[in-house]
Amino acid sequence: MELGIDRERCQSAGMCALTAPEVFDQDAEDGRVLLLRTRPSPGQDTAARQAADICPSGAITVIEEREGGSSAAPES
Ligand code: SF4
Repeated sequence: MELGIDRERCQSAGMCALTAPEVFDQDAEDGRVLLLRTRPSPGQDTAARQAADICPSGAITVIEEREGGSSAAPES
């Protein structure tokens, strides 16, 4: 899986950093999301998906990789 963030949409709620602190952090200046790992390790991907699900602004995008390594755009 691969992650993307939209800092313009982020509302600085911080749920992502609480849910997956190894993957997301918050900017010390404005509180907006920072992406620490574009490709979470297998042990981090469940928390990263949960963070995307609970983000109130839809600022986190999850791109699932298909077999063979290609990526597919998420359903919206
Ligand atoms: S949960 Fe969403 S709105 Fe909150 S800090 Fe993370 S990306 Fe921003």
